[in-house]
Amino acid sequence: MSTRTGKVTVTTENIFPIIRKWLYSDHDIFVRELVSNAADATTKLNRLVNLGQTKIVDEDPLSIQVSFNEKKGILVIEDQGIGMTADELDRYINQIAFSGAMDFVEKFKEKGGSENSIIGHFGLGFYSAFMVADRVVIDTLSYIDGEKPVKWESEDGMEYTVSDSERTNRGTSITLYLSDEAKKLFDALKIKSILEKYCSFLPYPLFYSDLKRKDEHDKAQKKRAKEASDKDEEISVSEYAPDRINPVAPLWQKAPKDCTDEEYISFYHQVFSDPRDPLFWIHLNLDYPFTLQGILFFPKTDNAYQTLDGRIKVYNQQVFVADNIEEIIPDFLFLLRGCLDCTDLPLNVSRSALQQDTYVQKLSSHIIRKVSDKLSTLFKKQREDYESYWDDIGVFVKYGMMKEDKFFEKAKSFMLFKTVEGKYLTYDELTEKHDAIRYTQSADKQAAYVEIATQKGYPVVVLDHEIDNNFISFMEYKMPAKRFMRVDAEFDGESHKDEAYTHLVERFKSLVQEPKLDVEVMSLGVDSFPAFIRETEESRRMAEMKKQFEKMKKSGEDDPYGNLDDMFPEKKDLVLNADHPLVVRLLDLVEKDEAEDSARIICDQLYDQARLSHGSLDAEGLKKFLKDHATLLLNIINNRDNSGGGNE
Ligand code: ADP
Repeated sequence: MSTRTGKVTVTTENIFPIIRKWLYSDHDIFVRELVSNAADATTKLNRLVNLGQTKIVDEDPLSIQVSFNEKKGILVIEDQGIGMTADELDRYINQIAFSGAMDFVEKFKEKGGSENSIIGHFGLGFYSAFMVADRVVIDTLSYIDGEKPVKWESEDGMEYTVSDSERTNRGTSITLYLSDEAKKLFDALKIKSILEKYCSFLPYPLFYSDLKRKDEHDKAQKKRAKEASDKDEEISVSEYAPDRINPVAPLWQKAPKDCTDEEYISFYHQVFSDPRDPLFWIHLNLDYPFTLQGILFFPKTDNAYQTLDGRIKVYNQQVFVADNIEEIIPDFLFLLRGCLDCTDLPLNVSRSALQQDTYVQKLSSHIIRKVSDKLSTLFKKQREDYESYWDDIGVFVKYGMMKEDKFFEKAKSFMLFKTVEGKYLTYDELTEKHDAIRYTQSADKQAAYVEIATQKGYPVVVLDHEIDNNFISFMEYKMPAKRFMRVDAEFDGESHKDEAYTHLVERFKSLVQEPKLDVEVMSLGVDSFPAFIRETEESRRMAEMKKQFEKMKKSGEDDPYGNLDDMFPEKKDLVLNADHPLVVRLLDLVEKDEAEDSARIICDQLYDQARLSHGSLDAEGLKKFLKDHATLLLNIINNRDNSGGGNE
């Protein structure tokens, strides 16, 4: 064939500056595009073989090789696929591929060039090579008997030369001579990591040769061989072995019934580099009404919401597209880990179009349904196991309920509350006999309050996670029949209002010098504490909001919020336990109006103790309390000395 030159007709302004610009937002994608083309060419060949239209005599399975000469900046992607004839090259590369690139640019411009505008960025195809290369060469030999090998080369993607090639084996190699700019961006490790990111589940073996390492290896082997031959020894010389990029098979492709637990677990370890085993998993395998394959793993999290690095990798025919595409997957699922292969995804449309896409909506509903079905089945059939997972999956379920109504509707029957005794109860089980859900944010710090509630027969649940504040409000909004109430919000016991107690209350307020303090005397049991702070649930929530506002205030320059104390008034009062001997004695003291100093010390100490155990004693108050306490102890010794004790 004689050498001929041609020029691609340009119908819009030069596309390459735009394609190059793309380089800065997502400069790895050319690797994926070219390797995908190689995989497609291999699939096409396989299909022809299966149809009996051609035969192959290759001994090894068809594979794809990538090699990189970092020093020279030469990257070669080679396949043993279908290849192209001269005609096909003209049609597919000069005409179709170019129009594909044009199409891409049009869409890119339409969306204002924002890097999120085109999901997955598929469709740029072969021409993405010019994002990084200032010379690209295609060497190809078609599978069709009698066809000649062809070489296509171009420096800018617009003017090309087609000539005879020296290629002898079927398939295609694409050689990229990287631009100086690109040479700075891509070294051998970077290329390898891009391949690993996008192609670790490619359907054909993918090998990577770092030619610098190969060179070093070959030299070292030569040296060894020479040294051995000098000593008349015989040694075997090893050949450089390229790295296999995709050693792990995509387990999601296997039928679920053929997969063992060990396979799932080992797949999880390998893909997510998590040494811990997953709790359980969901294998998605759907052919109709759309194709979806994948595995979602529930990782061990210990409920550590913030440190949770969930990831759902989305693939299109085993080629990685992106992590956590929120248009496809409801974002609460990002707390999970998994791989989803969505063959029918319209990847070259904009993100906003994707949200409208009915396929995508169906996909998302399907995934939510599968997840809730799995949890529901576990709950119904393996409740003990399910409970043992709860500490890890609780945040996920609560977050999902708040984010997705469809999920809420199902999850409300299997969401669990953990009680202070370590029991797990559903909402219905918990509220069956009680009109409110009593909870604690810390079973240790609020132990005194928890004790009162549990002694009265109320189950107390632990809601100690960051998410719980919002979750409580959310649940009350969705299921208003039952309130949530922290253990210090209400006490269940007889209230005493007769004259003697009213007098005690008045004396108490004046002795602690808090005329506005509300004090109530109640029977709370002989073994319980003498005094408690009671804070209404509303006040607690106000305090929570106040904290948020304080944070905002600290970070903002202006102060549009006004006085936070006025905005979020606190409502705390004091409850004296009429059953406690100390309160009984105090009642006696104030009734007789005796020993005012002792009564004051007792009242101060009771008030401070109550605030201390409630967690509402501030630093100044704490200092004062400790000092007073030390004085009290000293008084004990002094009194003892004065009364001549110590020798008994
Ligand atoms: P797309 O792959 O999206 O069709 P490309 O620009 O990547 O667009 O490629 C255009 C066409 O060129 C492909 O459809 C294919 O027919 C042909 N082609 C590209 N790379 C190869 C290859 N490695 N082997 C055989 N044909 C190829």
